[in-house]
Amino acid sequence: MDFALPEHLPGLLAEMDAFIDAEIKPLEAEHMQYFDRRREYARTDWENDGIPRREWEDLLDEMRRRADAAGWLRYGLPSRFGGRDGTNLDMAVIREHLAHKGLGLHNDLQDESSIVGNFPQVIMMDRFGTDEQKQDWIEALLTGTRSMAFGLSEPGHGSDATWLETTAVADGDGWVINGTKRWNTGVHRATHDLVFARTSGEAGQARGITAFLVPTDTPGFTVPFYWWTFNMPTDHGEVELKDVRVPTDAVLGVGAADSRWGKRSCTRTGSGRPRAASVQRSSASTAPRSTPVSGWCSASRCR
Ligand SMILES: Cc1cc2nc3c(=O)[nH]c(=O)nc-3n(C[C@H](O)[C@H](O)[C@H](O)COP(=O)(O)OP(=O)(O)OC[C@H]3O[C@@H](n4cnc5c(N)ncnc54)[C@H](O)[C@@H]3O)c2cc1C
Repeated sequence: MDFALPEHLPGLLAEMDAFIDAEIKPLEAEHMQYFDRRREYARTDWENDGIPRREWEDLLDEMRRRADAAGWLRYGLPSRFGGRDGTNLDMAVIREHLAHKGLGLHNDLQDESSIVGNFPQVIMMDRFGTDEQKQDWIEALLTGTRSMAFGLSEPGHGSDATWLETTAVADGDGWVINGTKRWNTGVHRATHDLVFARTSGEAGQARGITAFLVPTDTPGFTVPFYWWTFNMPTDHGEVELKDVRVPTDAVLGVGAADSRWGKRSCTRTGSGRPRAASVQRSSASTAPRSTPVSGWCSASRCR
């Protein structure tokens, strides 16, 4: 196995270090309470369920703004999104290099923030979103004007989320969602939660799970508490959905919009082109040969 770095990387890492020294370290030095022995106290909003303090997250936002302006934040994304088409190998080397520099504003492992961003939701939206959703979401996710928590895990279902108990039932021109989600990282500030719910099929099957873009201020959407974890502070919310009504276009992608609980499910063809398919709830084996929309998402831990 050849462990030599691709030719362009050593120079790139040196450039990145120069950027950190010039623009990130001085900002960090002005806010050392978030990085030295005081950091747990400084970062945590103790009176507000232990979520991250707003000032701490504002500092992370400023770090991202500087990194974006200097051309680093989107490095791993395609150039059509302002990125530099960085490869997975580039990203692995860069993030290892940044982590090796130690705790700092350039790459804070406890909340996965970094001057070189990791944007799974942008890639997900690009691959699965409708044209309108791509328009609404991709740039907004990158600049932070919209944000999306990831609501897959549940109190009784983690590693195998195909057993999830949250349901969405078609009702008039929309859907009504009921259930409970656990560990919804970032939901304290997210404008939306990507909620996975069963719309057809049987428990234990990936087929029949649909993802909904639910605004976090929708009536019936509540965060009763946050789970305390070792990575101070906590931003891992419990989420309850009680008769949460969303419109048809809240469905991520196309295909499930005309579904009916027990009658139809959202599927994608093997070529990745979205399409709707009629699937009888009790006869999944007779369904058209296709990859369920939930196949990619139930397997990923995407935050
Ligand atoms: C800090 C944090 C942040 C998170 N953020 C999010 C988020 O934003 N959104 C979200 O949806 N989820 C999130 N999660 C949830 C995370 O994805 C789940 O914790 C994970 O999927 C494991 O599920 P579980 O905790 O229920 O453990 P379980 O599934 O109960 O697993 C417990 C143990 O059993 C093992 N195990 C499970 N099944 C098998 C099997 N079939 N064979 C052998 N061993 C098995 C596991 O490896 C593990 O060691 C987060 C979790 C944490 C801790």
